[in-house]
Amino acid sequence: MPLLSLVVPCYNEQEALYPFMAELARVISTLGDVQAEVIFVNDGSSDNTLPVIRELADQYDCVRYISFSRNFGKESAMLAGFEAAGGDYVAVMDADLQDPPALLPEMLRAVREEGFDCAGTRRTTRQGEPPIRSFFARMFYRLINMVSRTQLVDGARDYKLLSRKAVDALLSMPEYNRFSKGLYEWIGFRTKWIEFENVERVAGETKWSFWRLFKYSLEGIVAFTTVPLALASLLGMLCMLVALVIIVCLCVRQILWHSSVDGWTSMVCIVVLLSGVQLFCVGIIGQYISKMYLEIKRRPHYIIAEQSE
Ligand code: UDP
Ligand code: MG
Repeated sequence: MPLLSLVVPCYNEQEALYPFMAELARVISTLGDVQAEVIFVNDGSSDNTLPVIRELADQYDCVRYISFSRNFGKESAMLAGFEAAGGDYVAVMDADLQDPPALLPEMLRAVREEGFDCAGTRRTTRQGEPPIRSFFARMFYRLINMVSRTQLVDGARDYKLLSRKAVDALLSMPEYNRFSKGLYEWIGFRTKWIEFENVERVAGETKWSFWRLFKYSLEGIVAFTTVPLALASLLGMLCMLVALVIIVCLCVRQILWHSSVDGWTSMVCIVVLLSGVQLFCVGIIGQYISKMYLEIKRRPHYIIAEQSE
């Protein structure tokens, strides 16, 4: 009997877990000839998430769990789940019911019967989200699709169901700075997109502050394109060119009119402008170097403090 592994990263989800598991169990019972296992990954929650998960593991035979020693982030939690999953099919979903379990049968059908290796979900609306957040999200997708060869789908959720082949491909990428939205696209394979309307979370609140999302989007850009580096050199070259033209003009002026005392203001402007450009470019290079630094250290993605069995 084929096995479906469901990976659920949880960070401070104590209120959401009971309704989530009840709904998930209902859907699992309709799956027919596919067996399911649920792998909860407790990402260093500071509330009662772990005791709740332990309780669920006692209550349901299909539940397993992994608990981290601290908060390592959703990317690490998803990776841990993928590594622990033994299923022929593996799905990742949020614990807050924003990824409706009711879509699972359709996703499973796409991968089992319709020849896809990945079934992804897309929100068609961003209803219930602050408009400013939606605006920046849209800008981010525009920007990254402009500068990167890996094309991201706007509104795509992390809620995915993958075949074993696709999971192994994902796991073959050991990089430290994981940006899943890009990794899913990078591995290729045929993806079926299933659309649904945005659902608000059942309980608790979002863990993604604006600042956290901003850092995450920068990570995505640095991880999937080196265009900013090229941009930095281009900008440098442009400034050099402009500076050369100005120097020539100034020389001509000096030779013809001997008046080099003027222009102090423009000088200061140019110095300030150039220092700005230089700092900006050094900053871009610094971003890449800092990622290399983290990559080279080869630290583990997460540390497990406790797990079931
Ligand atoms: N999550 C996690 N570690 C974190 C932050 C979030 O495992 O550091 C989990 C969280 O418990 C949830 C999922 O990732 O299951 C998505 O988080 P959230 O619902 O806060 O994000 P949103 O849906 O608002 O984008
Ligand atoms: Mg959510």
